Amino acid sequence: MQDGNSVPDPICGRCKKQIDMAVRTEVVYQDKMWFHTACHREGADQLFRATRLAEVLTEVKRGVDIIPSPPPAPVVVVP
Ligand SMILES: [Zn+2]
Repeated sequence: MQDGNSVPDPICGRCKKQIDMAVRTEVVYQDKMWFHTACHREGADQLFRATRLAEVLTEVKRGVDIIPSPPPAPVVVVP
């Protein structure tokens, strides 16, 4: 039979380990996922780096879009 009040222990969205709800103060709930505080911080750091990297890459791409490709080198005909 099912216990309606029983909620399965959440799994950490990062290390995939079961989170003991007894240490509820040490967990973070975000985007419908649970994380250990440490895991969340690590993930946030990584996300921050990834976001910055993505921004930089986007900037580069944008720059490339703006710069027109150089015209083909003229063919020099030596008489
Ligand atoms: Zn974790």
